[in-house]
Amino acid sequence: MKNKTILVVEDNDLNMKLVQALLRRDSYRVLASGNAEKGLDLARSEKPDLILMDLQLPGMDGLSAIRILKKDPLLKQTPIAALTAYAMAEDLEKAREAGCDCYITKPFDIQSFAETIRKLLEEAPSASSENPEQLP
Ligand code: MN
Repeated sequence: MKNKTILVVEDNDLNMKLVQALLRRDSYRVLASGNAEKGLDLARSEKPDLILMDLQLPGMDGLSAIRILKKDPLLKQTPIAALTAYAMAEDLEKAREAGCDCYITKPFDIQSFAETIRKLLEEAPSASSENPEQLP
């Protein structure tokens, strides 16, 4: 079976290194971008299985990028997890409105991070899926 591809958009070098290390340890293929603009390009060209999107980014912010992805007919099915240091109700509500499937709070809890990624990929509608189940 082909390894799943995960796009990580994160401008903080330390967070990016940590996320990449965690994902590669679980044998995922990782695409990385430090900004939303290149992240959108990578999403369009590579069609990742999952996108992890930091909300605070230089230039275009993560919420704007998520809204664009969720309007793209070819990408709107791709699950997106927001990476945010701000676990405030307001931010989480905004992330949900923008179309986020879930959020991951920084700093990362390594154990639950791996678990969250696995669940998102399991629940994601694959091209061959006969069971288009929606997240609540
Ligand atoms: Mn950031």
